[in-house]
Amino acid sequence: MRLSRRAVLAAGAAGILSACTPPPRPRSAEPTTAPSLSPDSSTVPTTPAAASTTPPPAPATRAAVVSRYRAARPTQFGLTVPGVINRLPSSGVALTFDACGGPGGAQYDHALIKTLRDLRTPATLFLNARWIEANPAAFRDLAADPLFDIANHGTRHLPLSVAGRSAYGIAGTRDPGEVYDEIAGNHDLLTQALGRPPAFFRSGTAHYDDVATKIVAELGEQVIGFDVNADSGARASLPQISRAMAGVRPGSIVIAHMNRPDGATAKGMAAALPPLVAAGTQFTHLR
Ligand SMILES: [Zn+2]
Repeated sequence: MRLSRRAVLAAGAAGILSACTPPPRPRSAEPTTAPSLSPDSSTVPTTPAAASTTPPPAPATRAAVVSRYRAARPTQFGLTVPGVINRLPSSGVALTFDACGGPGGAQYDHALIKTLRDLRTPATLFLNARWIEANPAAFRDLAADPLFDIANHGTRHLPLSVAGRSAYGIAGTRDPGEVYDEIAGNHDLLTQALGRPPAFFRSGTAHYDDVATKIVAELGEQVIGFDVNADSGARASLPQISRAMAGVRPGSIVIAHMNRPDGATAKGMAAALPPLVAAGTQFTHLR
């Protein structure tokens, strides 16, 4: 695997940033109200670009994005703005695990991955460029395993904003060019390493404004949120994880973390997943 110089530089520059900060359970992400990847939606593709039989259009260039969105003014910022997919259109359940990288956030939860493998439970792994740089062997191992789908968790792990909005004390991107860089740095890294572009994006902190989500789409990726916050940034206790996982419903997208082995996430998933499987839950990739 060769890592792009651009992404290496970006990841190194991000070292001064704080590690992943846990998104709290979104107040507005209830299954009955959350945006979904609905077959009826006119604003969200019904099939991911990667699954299309025709080649997707080439992603927009940085210059095109800057020109097109220079004057755009966002009206919303948060976890559930337009363009964020928080539910599946099917009855399956998608487990997603973030690896945020950066100081304190570049560890690898081997026990969690072993649990998923032992249970043959598919999952989508949102990897930040900094985490990939810190864990090249683990990245290659995960990318080679069809149980896992690799997705884009940003280059510097920033809230995605065209106006510098912050989340959990982390300053976001400041303009359309920085939004492009945050998506494209890791997009290029993953495309080079995987041989195909990532289909899904989640920003550091999972916060966006409604202009930034349009820019993600311009780069050929879909923004993935969640309706079940399983581990609150791997800071949740085992009972808290159990309570959160009790909220899994058909169509749920579950967020948890795979970069904090000192947390209770692995034990929480080992406890929560077998009863869900026994109850007939079908775990699925996002694709
Ligand atoms: Zn993260």
